[in-house]
Amino acid sequence: MSTQSATQLISINPATGQEVGRVAVTTPEALDAVVVQAWDAYRHSGWKERLPHQRADVLRTIADRLAAEKETLAVLQMRDNGKPLSECRGMVDYAVGAFRYYASACETLETSVTPPRGQYVSFTVLEPFGVVAAITPWNSPIMNDATKVAPALAAGNAVILKPSEDAPLLAPELVRIAAEAGLPAGLLQVVQGRGAEVGAALVAHNGVRMVSFTGGTATGQAIGRVAADRVIPVALELGGKSPHIVFDDADQELAVAAVISGIFGSAGQSCVAGSRVFIQASIYDAVLERITEQARTIRVAAPDAPDLEMGPLASFAHRERVEAFVERAREEGGRILCGGARPEGAAFAEGAYYLPTVIDGLAPHALTCQEEAFGPVLVALPFDDEADLIAQANDTAFGLACGIWTESFKRAWRVGRAIEAGSVWINTYKQSVTSTPFGGFKSSGIGREKGLDGLRLYGEVKSLFFGLQEQPFPVSK
Ligand code: NAD
Repeated sequence: MSTQSATQLISINPATGQEVGRVAVTTPEALDAVVVQAWDAYRHSGWKERLPHQRADVLRTIADRLAAEKETLAVLQMRDNGKPLSECRGMVDYAVGAFRYYASACETLETSVTPPRGQYVSFTVLEPFGVVAAITPWNSPIMNDATKVAPALAAGNAVILKPSEDAPLLAPELVRIAAEAGLPAGLLQVVQGRGAEVGAALVAHNGVRMVSFTGGTATGQAIGRVAADRVIPVALELGGKSPHIVFDDADQELAVAAVISGIFGSAGQSCVAGSRVFIQASIYDAVLERITEQARTIRVAAPDAPDLEMGPLASFAHRERVEAFVERAREEGGRILCGGARPEGAAFAEGAYYLPTVIDGLAPHALTCQEEAFGPVLVALPFDDEADLIAQANDTAFGLACGIWTESFKRAWRVGRAIEAGSVWINTYKQSVTSTPFGGFKSSGIGREKGLDGLRLYGEVKSLFFGLQEQPFPVSK
């Protein structure tokens, strides 16, 4: 997390309240200069003209250097946003994988050819946009940055990266590493500052041709409105209120463990957190009791404690938001089965800690069941049959992810197809790999990152027609 002044962002470790580092806020004049430099690099560095395998070489070198600095980067992210060190290590691994994947993907970029159709042959190619903006949130900075930067560079663009003001320290490291890996100067730059100022100015800038955004739905809507006025494409990865479903034939031990890690991993600060658990009525009491019991015994500790299961929230301000969310759940009639408070004890006094919280007794339309907490707050809801379940599970504005626990393949298939979500996990949860597309239905977003879809996001499709005709065209064909 960070505190802010007009000219600086100061990163504060949410586990200790201590300063970790500071960065300068990008002024409007500096933003203009960054955009000019990006276009200059795009037009004159020869990056987009390089053969795909030559671009891939640089991307692989970036991956190698990220891997070599894994521990330092993981520790920096842990201090910047308070995530457990083990999760931060996993995120650096993820970033390494993203650069490797898009190195290979760019080498195999398809050009489709339509064979001669009498008078012509046509080629369809992907052209870079030029300068694209990548705007990322605070919860997983190195992972989210890499998910955007790697494919955008692979497709031949220059990228301006705007990290969250609440986790500003990783993006400059990625820019440094890319430069050391041989990426031409100006192709990847970072701008820093508050979203409403620097982020908004970036999206509105005439020199930016495409915006790739990950963050909250309200911010995505604001960015989408500006992009619509400018008629530039946006990719939006937004929030979620993902249902985690336990049917009566599920392996309950596996299901309960997945429900617990699906919401309390990363202290619930994950877009795909399974924040609503639907349990079939016949097993509701028994499964909910197991979930509550396990949530109560989660080891909350400092992010670098060897045996921790959940660290602090990313900032003191964010803890206040989560507290207000739980307070409103109480007002809506929710029963707090566990948590609903800060942990007690000297070890937690300096940090933004909050206990794993399980709530039931709420109507599906309660705001607690509809809005994203982005924290360690699980809402439990019973369901009777499949039709009841599908209606309830789909009844939010979001559609990012879903977990289904059942031993019946046919039921998993039916429910998986009926759920409005971009990722559906059956007898597993929160699996993610760069080669599989990821994104949301409804208010959870527009477009798909990762996979080859994630590369195509960063290019304009162009078709070139070559005439084969031997005779002059008639006036009317
Ligand atoms: P946020 O929307 O507040 O901020 C995200 C980024 O947008 C930051 O860099 C911020 O500075 C910038 N920003 C804010 N206002 C802006 C504006 N008007 N114009 C341009 N940029 C602006 O989100 P957050 O609090 O940083 O992150 C939490 C949210 O992100 C949650 O809703 C979570 O679900 C979502 N998220 C989604 C995914 C996904 O892949 N779908 C992944 C991680 C997080």
